[in-house]
Amino acid sequence: MKTFTRSFFLVCLISYLLVLGIPEASAAPLKKSVLVLFPYQNDLPNHEISYQALREEFGSADDLVLDVYYEYLELLRFPDPTYQQQMFDLLAVKYRDKPIDLVFIHNEVLLKRWLEQRGAILPSTPVVFYSTTTAAIQGLQLPPDVTGVSGTVDFTQSIHWILRTRPTVNEIVLVYGTGKAERQWIQPVELLQKAAGEQVHLTDLSGLPLDQIKQRVAALPPTSVVLYELMFTDAAGKTYRPVDVLRELSAVSPVPVISGYDQGIGTGTIGGYMFSTEQQARDAAQMGLHILRGEAVSNIPIQEDQSNRFIFDHIALQRFDIPLSDLPPDSIIRNRQYSPWELYRPQIITTITFIAILSLLVIILLIVTRRLNRTRLALADLNLNLENQVQERTATLSQTNILLQDEITERTRLEDELRHQATTDTLTGISNRRHFLELAQNEINRAKRLNHPLAIALLDIDHFKNINDVYGHATGDQALMAFVTTCHLNLREIDVFARLGGDEFVILLPETDCDQAYTALERFRKTLTAAPFDFAGQSVQITSSIGISNLANENESLDTFLGRADEALYQAKEAGRNQIAIVSVHDSRVLSQVAWDNEKSKIFKRNV
Ligand code: GH3
Ligand code: MG
Repeated sequence: MKTFTRSFFLVCLISYLLVLGIPEASAAPLKKSVLVLFPYQNDLPNHEISYQALREEFGSADDLVLDVYYEYLELLRFPDPTYQQQMFDLLAVKYRDKPIDLVFIHNEVLLKRWLEQRGAILPSTPVVFYSTTTAAIQGLQLPPDVTGVSGTVDFTQSIHWILRTRPTVNEIVLVYGTGKAERQWIQPVELLQKAAGEQVHLTDLSGLPLDQIKQRVAALPPTSVVLYELMFTDAAGKTYRPVDVLRELSAVSPVPVISGYDQGIGTGTIGGYMFSTEQQARDAAQMGLHILRGEAVSNIPIQEDQSNRFIFDHIALQRFDIPLSDLPPDSIIRNRQYSPWELYRPQIITTITFIAILSLLVIILLIVTRRLNRTRLALADLNLNLENQVQERTATLSQTNILLQDEITERTRLEDELRHQATTDTLTGISNRRHFLELAQNEINRAKRLNHPLAIALLDIDHFKNINDVYGHATGDQALMAFVTTCHLNLREIDVFARLGGDEFVILLPETDCDQAYTALERFRKTLTAAPFDFAGQSVQITSSIGISNLANENESLDTFLGRADEALYQAKEAGRNQIAIVSVHDSRVLSQVAWDNEKSKIFKRNV
């Protein structure tokens, strides 16, 4: 069993290694050597761009470890054939023992030379070229281990564009060199003239040395443009870095300078339809990497570069007032200058929106405040109006109230007066007969309810007719008033005193029996008769006959009660006047007695 398990695991392990392989062995990168040849000096922008692009593309290959050699052959600045031959011989010595896997060749001038020389240097090393024109390559007999990238220089596109954008242009000034290096990069004048049309004159300055070209360019009218193709060597045979020529031309030119290579951007040229050395170098590098990984060169055809684009320098465009809207669609804009609006568009929009919203809110607030103020004013007016109305109404009401109060007071006064007149004797001011009858009934009821004694006295002035007759009616009145006043003095608060009519008066004495009533009235009678009254010098003696009685029982009426008192008064009159007669009732027995003023009493008793 143990042996079986061990065998099983062993089989599994072997199968795993067979299927997936040993990881360390597969990850090992390929070591390759590459030689990159540049035709001219290393400070040409064209070379610098290629160098940078190749290095970047080489660096992107993780599966390869590249040993890269760069050579700058100076074919332009050192044209001596002896030097050049010795230089190639030197390369042969230099790389004799170096196994170079691939050679990169920059431009067609060098490619041509390399094909002549490579048999002595690296005869079997494949070649990838770039930065060449298709036209130049077509003229060469290429061996099967040579491939690469070529492109087309096309200034006609730029001519079409500038004439479209600036219809006033009637002259295109052509600047290009006359050496071997630029030959493949220059388009025939006839071709360019055809593109420009008959209306536009093409001025070819290639027959002049650069200094004179610059003078001519500096004097150009605004209706001209300069088309710079390429210049390594001027008509005087002097060599230049093409980019320097472009910079010098742009510096003196009063009109736009059009160019065709992206490395020229930044020198002052506005740009144009451009050939991209950089793109060709990158494409060539990728092609080379395929070859280094083992792909057959014959399987990799020459590639036609399609990366030409309109490329412009924004700073130069601004110098000549060419707006971005005038550029062809999909143009690449370098040195882009952004306006504050372009740079801070979101912030500006946000701020403006914010300010707009804020302003709107402020406006709304102002409107609302204004309306509010108007409403407040209207309300204040309304309030004032209302207050005035209320005040007016209140004034009217209080006036009405005062009138009403006056009326009520008057009415009350009248009522009081009427009541007073109805209940009061006009002459003496004491209760009259009617009032007495009301009060007497109340007193009788009260006495019956409380079981209190109640006495009554009827008084009549003796011979009052005589007083009237002797002293006159006015004195008679005075006598009546004096009689009342005197009587009042001898009565209590609770006693009811009234004038029944003429010279006849009545007094109800609550809680009083006949004896107590007699005592009180005797006191009055004595006061009345004590001395004569003096009315305006007239001495008048007043006496009164008085009849007293008491309330008999619960069933007795006011009439019976009064009647008994009247009977007593009659007896007092009968007995000679100025007397008090009492007709009292005790246990249903009626007793009668008369008191004389000389206090000699004579009492009659009889049963009724
Ligand atoms: P007697 O002793 O029998 O009562 O005799 P008398 O003269 O008083 O007779 P009587 O009581 O009948 O007379 C009342 C008189 O009182 C008659 C009337 O002229 C007079 N008299 C009634 N009212 C008034 C009044 O208001 N003022 C005056 N001055 N006299 C009045
Ligand atoms: Mg009388």
